[in-house]
Amino acid sequence: MTTLVDVSRTENSEDLFARAREIVPGGVNSPVRAFGAVGGTPRFMAAGQGPYITDVDGNRYVDLVCSWGPMILGHRHPAVIEALQEALRDGTSFGTATAGEVELAEEIVARVDPVEKIRLVSSGTEATMSAVRLARGFTGRSKIIKFAGCYHGHVDALLASAGSGLVTFGLPDTPGVTGASAADTVVLPYNSIEAVTEAFQAFGAEIACVITEACPANMGVVPPLDGFNARLRELCTAHGALLIIDEVLTGFRVSEAGWYGLDPVDADLMTFGKVMGGGLPAAAFGGRADVMAHLAPEGPVYQAGTLSGNPLACAAGLATLRACDEGVYDRVDAAALVIGRAAADALAAAGVPHRLQRAGSLFSIFFTDERVVDFDAAQRQNTAAYRAFFHSMLDQGVYLPPSAYEAWFLSAAHDDEALSRIADALPAAAKAAASVSV
Ligand SMILES: *Cc1c(COP(=O)(O)O)cnc(C)c1O
Repeated sequence: MTTLVDVSRTENSEDLFARAREIVPGGVNSPVRAFGAVGGTPRFMAAGQGPYITDVDGNRYVDLVCSWGPMILGHRHPAVIEALQEALRDGTSFGTATAGEVELAEEIVARVDPVEKIRLVSSGTEATMSAVRLARGFTGRSKIIKFAGCYHGHVDALLASAGSGLVTFGLPDTPGVTGASAADTVVLPYNSIEAVTEAFQAFGAEIACVITEACPANMGVVPPLDGFNARLRELCTAHGALLIIDEVLTGFRVSEAGWYGLDPVDADLMTFGKVMGGGLPAAAFGGRADVMAHLAPEGPVYQAGTLSGNPLACAAGLATLRACDEGVYDRVDAAALVIGRAAADALAAAGVPHRLQRAGSLFSIFFTDERVVDFDAAQRQNTAAYRAFFHSMLDQGVYLPPSAYEAWFLSAAHDDEALSRIADALPAAAKAAASVSV
């Protein structure tokens, strides 16, 4: 085992961050990476192996971000690396159909019943954007319902009251999204069937679709109340709207069939990303065959992508999905149980108000006493306490999400040694949080 992190060594990250800030807004290519919510110098990572990541100063961390979900097998899993090397020998992109795309599509269709037909894209954002366009094209309606705190990528129409980086940086909405593209978005409080019922009463015949995270995890983990997704299904059916369940984060992470495996509600369209790309850019949307038949070239709704179904991304995704057997999900579940409980115990011992919220292997800790069922409650947490907690963990060699509004991600590679390193770091971090939680 390597030595503990020497936190005084951050010069190389500092240098890179300074260089990056000269030419890249905020110095990063995705906002949450900038450490804006927790302060300090973002660590530039150089390599990963199993449950560990190593930064450019040689500090090694137990990774609790796992690339925001994709690395469910851990870093550099042999099966994924081998599949990539094999694919690489044949070339990187052709702009034609390839066998790997068919195999990846077949693998997903076989796992998730409501997905009869599927199309591959390169990011979760593209998947949700395309699914919404298809829902509008199919129904001939304009309005969409989304929930506050749900994040569906940076699609104009879906950025209103979104989670992830927007809540991390306190941006309720974003300039650059015109009134016209937001006007057809109806934002409702999560877990409120009353609100959805009222919205359908008010504009039922205009609503093309309801889009929801299968289990929200971009405002912290906020599980759907019992039967919530099923009620959405009923309301959509009753009003001729489509139900889009976004499984970009949950898909193939919480079970072999994603959230659908735990809460089998039939969506009309579903979106996938993260795990299905195995650490490369791959995502997808799919669902009912009659709806998907409206997509070009079969139907009139246009959607395309130069690198869609990229051979390397398909190889990494397919190798990842094929390696994700029951044993993998058992290990991730067990690790999540241990770490969630250890974190809650440490915070309780230090007297820090907190709430552990779980949904399958997903979990996060809110720095508040109250049960969090929606975005408003999520935003009442003490983010200063998280900031102190985060930095103490980082100093002790554990890399948590640099935001209080994100899930903690584990992998099947988090072995006893990695788990005990996390557990050992928790008491001091809880004490650090206690010092700012009054
Ligand atoms: C990450 C995420 C997206 C966006 O995916 P990108 O690949 O970052 O564009 C969409 N929906 C959910 C639920 C996500 O977690």
